[in-house]
Amino acid sequence: MTIQTLSDGSLRLPKGLLFPDLPQDQLDPILSRHGITQDPLEPPLNITLLRHGDQVVLFDAGSGPAFQDSAGRLPLALEEAGVSPEEITHVVFTHAHPDHLWGVLDDFDDPLFANAEHLMGQAEWDYWFDPATISTIGEERANMAAGAYRRLEILEDQVTRFRDGEEILPGVAARATHGHTPGHMSFELRSGGESIMVLGDAIGNHHVSFAQPEWHVGTDHDPDMAAGTRVGLLDQLAHDQIRVIGYHLPGGGLGEVVRAGSGFRFIST
Ligand SMILES: [Zn+2]
Repeated sequence: MTIQTLSDGSLRLPKGLLFPDLPQDQLDPILSRHGITQDPLEPPLNITLLRHGDQVVLFDAGSGPAFQDSAGRLPLALEEAGVSPEEITHVVFTHAHPDHLWGVLDDFDDPLFANAEHLMGQAEWDYWFDPATISTIGEERANMAAGAYRRLEILEDQVTRFRDGEEILPGVAARATHGHTPGHMSFELRSGGESIMVLGDAIGNHHVSFAQPEWHVGTDHDPDMAAGTRVGLLDQLAHDQIRVIGYHLPGGGLGEVVRAGSGFRFIST
């Protein structure tokens, strides 16, 4: 297995959207400890590229041209890596948020990765492919739901659905990490005695969600469930010394989880 991450650029995310419920006097010291003093925050977007035998696998597809100006760089990053979109054999989704899904179509609304099998967790698929979600998700996220539905409709025949615990590709096991979205999935990549976890947004930042993993994050659909998932996952990753790739973690997203006081710390590697 060869693993690298490609940058889709970064997001512009207002602090108040990310942490709507947290008291500023507790939040700001954690952010400034990590050198973050600006608002909006500018989290990176890291797409995992896995080469394994004949397979060239992307974990998530980036934002595409229609989401934010600072994002949608994946096609360029692929070109720099010497990989053409036609060479991608599989696109595996952690979840269907815009910065993970919307890059899956080209400028003509055709699948960008024309030869790839696309894979999404069954629960995640069921949530976003339900036309009712657009009206039940809430006004702030309705645009997100419409965008997901439109893309999934175009991709429907190319998408394979999978369930928690399934080995979806050789050495790639799906792990349910629900909460950020209803069917969010992470993936454990195993080769020899080593493993690495592609987190997606199960742990969505390297500051607050490591220092205080139980605190609510505004971009999580079910903040309580997401916090429970995060605490359990961090505990396991630190205990078993499993390396991680986080979609919004710094330094390309690769690193280790260590315990620090009552919380955890991300060490970029
Ligand atoms: Zn994300």
